[in-house]
Amino acid sequence: MKKRAVIIGGGLGGLATALRLTVNGWQVTVCEQGDTFGGKMNYWSQAGFQFDTGPSLITMPWVFQELFETASSRLQDHVELIQMHPLAQYVYDDGVRFTYTSSLPEWLPTVRMIEPRDVEGFFKFLRLGARLYDVSRQTFLKRRPLDRPRATDLGVLRHLPLRYGWGNYHKTVAAHFQSPYLQQLYDRYPTYVGSSPYAAPATLAIIPYLEFAFGGWYARGGLYRIVQGLLELATTMGVDLIPRAQVVRIEHENRKVKGVHLADGNRLPGDVVVMNGDASEGPKLLGESNAQGMPSTHRSMSGLVFLLGLRRELPGLSHHSLYFSADYRREFAQLFDERCFPDDPTVYVNTPSRSDRSLVLGEGETLFIMANAPANDGDLWDEEQIGTARCRVFERLRRSGFPDIESDIVVSDVWTPRRIAGTYSMPGGAIYGAHSHGWRNAFLRPSNKSTRYDGLYRVGGSSHPGGGTPTVLLSAQITCELIQRFERG
Ligand SMILES: Cc1cc2nc3c(=O)[nH]c(=O)nc-3n(C[C@H](O)[C@H](O)[C@H](O)COP(=O)(O)OP(=O)(O)OC[C@H]3O[C@@H](n4cnc5c(N)ncnc54)[C@H](O)[C@@H]3O)c2cc1C
Repeated sequence: MKKRAVIIGGGLGGLATALRLTVNGWQVTVCEQGDTFGGKMNYWSQAGFQFDTGPSLITMPWVFQELFETASSRLQDHVELIQMHPLAQYVYDDGVRFTYTSSLPEWLPTVRMIEPRDVEGFFKFLRLGARLYDVSRQTFLKRRPLDRPRATDLGVLRHLPLRYGWGNYHKTVAAHFQSPYLQQLYDRYPTYVGSSPYAAPATLAIIPYLEFAFGGWYARGGLYRIVQGLLELATTMGVDLIPRAQVVRIEHENRKVKGVHLADGNRLPGDVVVMNGDASEGPKLLGESNAQGMPSTHRSMSGLVFLLGLRRELPGLSHHSLYFSADYRREFAQLFDERCFPDDPTVYVNTPSRSDRSLVLGEGETLFIMANAPANDGDLWDEEQIGTARCRVFERLRRSGFPDIESDIVVSDVWTPRRIAGTYSMPGGAIYGAHSHGWRNAFLRPSNKSTRYDGLYRVGGSSHPGGGTPTVLLSAQITCELIQRFERG
């Protein structure tokens, strides 16, 4: 008899865990509350326009390749990955534009924003990121088996570079770059994990290093193609994928999990249960009387996303463009301290149709316009709140010289923090679970194996090692290794 695993949630982490466990001989059922699989890696299409509604850029493509190889397949047989060049176009409040590429000589046209000392600082910053990555991939990105940290779990901290490794992210950026333009550019990276540069640890210098050294990638046809590839594999391998199956309770006896109960009344038995939904929701499903969920002050940021299909092309746009606010520090103070949508938000415009004409029928453009937003429970995001935020987003774009597109919009949709929260059962719509402010939050996320309940595991962006698509796949790898180690008998 095969052992049975039930996975709560068919997000990227749930699907990757399902594939890995099936390869190891488990009988796997994935219960997804939504109509489709992939979780936040989701899509929307209308009138011939196709959109990713979640991730728009991936890094560490080898992590995706490894997953497909584990299932005896090849990523390139399912998805064509394209390396982004340039990585992004940055537009500052004073009108300065910077085309950021991973080839330094290409920075020359904008050299007036770079001091000679910044070049030296750039190499040092990159070296710091490389060292941090080297330490992390042997340790932090590989394991963290227990709920409570042990000395060995903290071994990674011992190996951090003494200078800066323990410091504050923004201060580390400021120590390496004199140019305020480059400071703002590199200060952006903690937002990749929903955090503020002014509160995150310098260890996040790994992120700009990984992007610069190994590229930012896109999947032709949209990043949802990756999910489709995983679903093809899962179906072929016999994973039981159940949509519209909301888990309302994890059954356990004397703290040994026995299976799950669904909202429709069905019960699914399981030798192990893997929580891919937000880790902070686990205690409620276990029926713990003191389950409180995550306080809003611990949460990573959410986002406000406008998806727009345009009837005309915008040839001047890059695939990825950033329109920076005038005062970055104030923006993050509003997001994390005042917990309100910023007066002057930094706006990310992703125009994948610039590199991939398969996303539109004939002429036109697909725009994914995103601004960071706080993950509050109380925000209604009704028409009035959306309208106010939309005006601020478009005012920032207008001030940055973005073309007027209002009369060209053919289709549109909006994802608010409230919609993100409701669709994926994530408190406040916090995209990455808890924020990574301070070393404790960054290093000690909920572990992949519960020490309180036998047979209960966690996977995904809200647990160890954290959010962002490649990290979620590493999380699945760690979780499966733990299941293999602890659930043999
Ligand atoms: C707007 C946006 C932009 C992003 N941009 C990027 C990017 O550019 N690059 C990048 O790498 N990452 C990006 N991310 C983050 C990335 O999408 C996530 O880190 C990753 O997809 C999370 O995967 P996961 O498996 O951990 O969780 P999820 O995708 O949240 O999957 C969890 C699943 O569990 C289901 N679920 C929850 N509770 C239950 C229950 N009780 N019963 C049944 N099912 C349940 C949910 O419906 C969901 O499908 C972005 C996310 C968003 C929203």
